[in-house]
Amino acid sequence: MKTLLEKILTKAIAGERIEAGEALLLLEKGNLLDLGFAADRIRQRIHKNETVTFVVDRNINYTNVCESACAFCAFYRPVHHPESYILETEEIFEKIEETIALGGTQILMQGGLHPNLDLDYFIELFRAIKKRYNIHLHCLSPVEIFYLSKKSNLSIEEVLQKLVEAGLDSIPGGGAEILADEVRQKLSPGKVDAKNWLKVMETAHNVGLKTTATMMFGSIETFTQRITHLEAIRSLQDKTGGFTAFIPWSFQPANTALGGTEKSSWEYLKMLAVSRIYLDNIPNIQVSWVTQGPKVAQIALSFGANDFGSTMLEENVVQAAGASFRMTKDEIINVIRDAGKKPAQRNTLYEIISGF
Ligand code: SF4
Repeated sequence: MKTLLEKILTKAIAGERIEAGEALLLLEKGNLLDLGFAADRIRQRIHKNETVTFVVDRNINYTNVCESACAFCAFYRPVHHPESYILETEEIFEKIEETIALGGTQILMQGGLHPNLDLDYFIELFRAIKKRYNIHLHCLSPVEIFYLSKKSNLSIEEVLQKLVEAGLDSIPGGGAEILADEVRQKLSPGKVDAKNWLKVMETAHNVGLKTTATMMFGSIETFTQRITHLEAIRSLQDKTGGFTAFIPWSFQPANTALGGTEKSSWEYLKMLAVSRIYLDNIPNIQVSWVTQGPKVAQIALSFGANDFGSTMLEENVVQAAGASFRMTKDEIINVIRDAGKKPAQRNTLYEIISGF
């Protein structure tokens, strides 16, 4: 006779939706290999030909000044700190030119909440970039959009529309951490709450922008709060269909005020598998090689993930918190191939550009 856990996994493999309580049970009591097997079967149903995609892009962090001062963040600096910076527009142009020269198709631009950078700064910046370059602007997480809405006294929709007119193409799902305010109050009381993070995403989807969604787990949250997070993402996706991908990654404690220890690869793979099993309406689950390294990321391709994320020609935020993994495009291709999969470069909207 099947155990309750086996019944839940059988149901999920058959394409039936599982409930939040069942996902919690999987996280608490599930066997890692059983979860991985189920997640991989579900991935195979959605992505039939074993293709694993990646995007060639660069993260540009336009400023490290941030008013929010989140306890888990090693990247930000106060306004007058000697290490604080705002990138000159010319520097941003140079970074974009280098990205394009390396076959890049996307710029992921995010930064701190700088009190002197207002909506007009971003409108002018995006216009200037679009005038010069044919590049997809995947920019400004809900944290920044919400901040700009408050600063400019405009609605979230008005801010998004102005940014879209200026050239914004899609939004990264950063700043979600755990979408449960009990956790956010402790980790990041100065930034957007769960309700407004979701509101920005819903509004973005309604104005026609595609977005990703992330989860930073392994700090102070409970398993229940992790499932609350997954449930919030799944419910919004039922409503809008605007999320292209989900990216869980584990808290990196080095150089942060919060400190602590990093969760194990075992826990990462378990969380990844449960994400694939529970988020039955999100097509792409991305590995986080920048926090897990290439070897665990390769294994993650058998635990529900179908996307290797991006080449990240530049990455500063996670690196500041101690993650030092770097990978070139060729290394990514080899790691995917060695896992028995077919590497393919995609664009931001998950359309295949070329296979290898
Ligand atoms: S995580 Fe983002 S919002 Fe929080 S302090 Fe760092 S840069 Fe600022």
